[in-house]
Amino acid sequence: MTSYNDALRGYAHSVLKRDAFRCRYCGWDGSQWPNWLYLSWDHLLPKGHPQRDDERYIVCACRFCNECCNRTKFQVDGRAPEEIVEAKRAAINKVRNDYFQFWDSEGPEPPRMSGMFDSSKTRVQPVFKQLERRDPTGASWIEPLCRLGSRASSALPERAPWAGKLSEPPKFEYGCDAPEEFLRWLIEHADQLDRKRLVRGETETHKKRAALLDGCHATRVEALARLDKEGGGKSGPGQWQVFEGTTMVDCALFCEHATLFVEGKRIEPHLTGRVEWYAKRHQVVRNLDCLRVRQRPARRYVLTVVEQGTPLEGEAAQLDSSAPLFSESLPHLNADEVEGLRQHYLGYTTWQRIAETFGDLTLPVTTQEAHALGFAHNTDSSA
Ligand SMILES: [Zn+2]
Repeated sequence: MTSYNDALRGYAHSVLKRDAFRCRYCGWDGSQWPNWLYLSWDHLLPKGHPQRDDERYIVCACRFCNECCNRTKFQVDGRAPEEIVEAKRAAINKVRNDYFQFWDSEGPEPPRMSGMFDSSKTRVQPVFKQLERRDPTGASWIEPLCRLGSRASSALPERAPWAGKLSEPPKFEYGCDAPEEFLRWLIEHADQLDRKRLVRGETETHKKRAALLDGCHATRVEALARLDKEGGGKSGPGQWQVFEGTTMVDCALFCEHATLFVEGKRIEPHLTGRVEWYAKRHQVVRNLDCLRVRQRPARRYVLTVVEQGTPLEGEAAQLDSSAPLFSESLPHLNADEVEGLRQHYLGYTTWQRIAETFGDLTLPVTTQEAHALGFAHNTDSSA
């Protein structure tokens, strides 16, 4: 057959093929290019064991799983290959979980403003700019767009029109400060803030925050007084009492009689990222909360848009039916207020469905393509 004598194409190939090119420990799918490059074979038996080179005791493993427990000794005598795999898998999972904790708190921020597949530049801006070109008033597309939301039938008024025309062009990356009531709640419940975020340093911010999280009463009083005095949630240097900064709304549509915030995702690993000091705060609900305290029209809605066929769709569906995600995100509101606010959530739809509904909208693959089509710009409009 082949004359290769390296692992992937040569001597390990038959084992990889037997295991369908999947890591036996974590399930890493190496059947696609370039994932295949990260496969290896893993000997279940230690060097010197008479059966070490028996292929029944060699499995397909991704590079990480292979190296993960190199120095750990596993009980192999009298065990079937599958039993050894299971024991190793348990050990590997433990390391993976530890790594995940580290990655989650210290790892790179998810790509947002840059990157080839940036959701703002390849989805949010192209879609809304194309819709705006067709009808700058928004009258013909805003309400049908909202109807695509999975919860729209219960959230929206039955009779159209209810939004009216756009009062200004769509705003991208629209900055919204955190509601004061929520900031107040965070100070009053400092024990629930994420201690992992705490930096013990020499600046005033470091010291005050450490004191607050350590339960210092005087610092709490001072923080609340500062919040009263400065009002609202402008975060910035020295604003140590502010534990949730400005959120960037992907697209804000201000109409005569309604305001719509769109949370748009494409390749992000999750619908909600790390939300500053209070980990239970879901990004979508945070948008709703920011919308709640605005002076603008009484009709306010949030719509989530995700890429079809990605795990984000499943997450969005879960958010639809999960009241606890809303109440956990809004600890400063009572049950009626939470439920009231939830009525303003339109649920989710997909970019593909929007493109279909409005006929032939282009969804650029890369930011480069979006720029070439004139759909994407570096925008930053703040409240
Ligand atoms: Zn693996």
